[in-house]
Amino acid sequence: MSGARTLLVTGGSRGIGAAICRKAADDGWRVAVNYVSNDAAAAKVVADIEAKGGEAFAVKGDLGSEEDILSIYKAIDDRWGRIDGLVNNAGVLGDKARVEDFDAARIERTMRVNVTGLILCSREAVRRMSTRFGGRGGAIVNISSVAARLGSADEYVDYAASKAAVDTFTRGLALEVAEDGIRVNSVRPGTTYTDIHASGGQPDRPERVRGAVPMKRIGEPEEIADGVIYLLSDRASYVTGTFLEVSGGR
Ligand code: NAP
Repeated sequence: MSGARTLLVTGGSRGIGAAICRKAADDGWRVAVNYVSNDAAAAKVVADIEAKGGEAFAVKGDLGSEEDILSIYKAIDDRWGRIDGLVNNAGVLGDKARVEDFDAARIERTMRVNVTGLILCSREAVRRMSTRFGGRGGAIVNISSVAARLGSADEYVDYAASKAAVDTFTRGLALEVAEDGIRVNSVRPGTTYTDIHASGGQPDRPERVRGAVPMKRIGEPEEIADGVIYLLSDRASYVTGTFLEVSGGR
């Protein structure tokens, strides 16, 4: 398995990221499972992959810290010496609030992880993947949100704005590295059953928004992961700079 392609999934310990890690391993990727604090959750994802004969390791690091991002990549360099795929999945949101009640700390945390961290992670991937620098090319998938389109009024407009930044970055980076062997795309999930809603102080949110989804149901992490795995794979070899909505039509 030493020649297998390697993938970094940020925020791979829980929710959508964990589903991406498991499905990527099923698709033949060796997976670096990044997380920030939940050691047990990350270890479980690694154990599940290993139990099925796959290869994975957990790598702790805060996407809000450039130093941590560099150490995540060093761990991958030391272990596998190559990276072929990156899923920029880690994302955070603040509690439900209107803009008039925002403070700088809340906005900065959202932007630091969702935008600055994502761009820095992509920079490190490009430095390693780009044929311009002797790399073998690769694929980057950014996890955006339908919030980039909807705006998330009365909930978290800062988060929605961070996802719009992700989409613009996806387009710009895709054009920048299109000749360098790297494809860059974005998946925009709709509301999905994960812990993120409780983290934002709204554990009941999925049930509340269900009626606004044309398919009248909430997404499962595995359904989002399937779109990501497609974009990572050679089946998407002519797909770059675009957006895949996995949102039940919302
Ligand atoms: P989640 O269940 O809250 O899981 C978050 C994951 O990110 C965990 O693995 C967590 O690690 C990790 N993480 C959080 N902050 C981090 C940081 N600073 N550095 C590194 N890792 C960090 O989230 P999710 O719902 O699966 O969301 C995944 C992505 O999908 C996010 O970008 C989110 O914006 C997007 N999305 C989600 C929904 C939805 O309805 N769920 C809809 C649209 C878009 P620990 O386990 O160590 O805490």
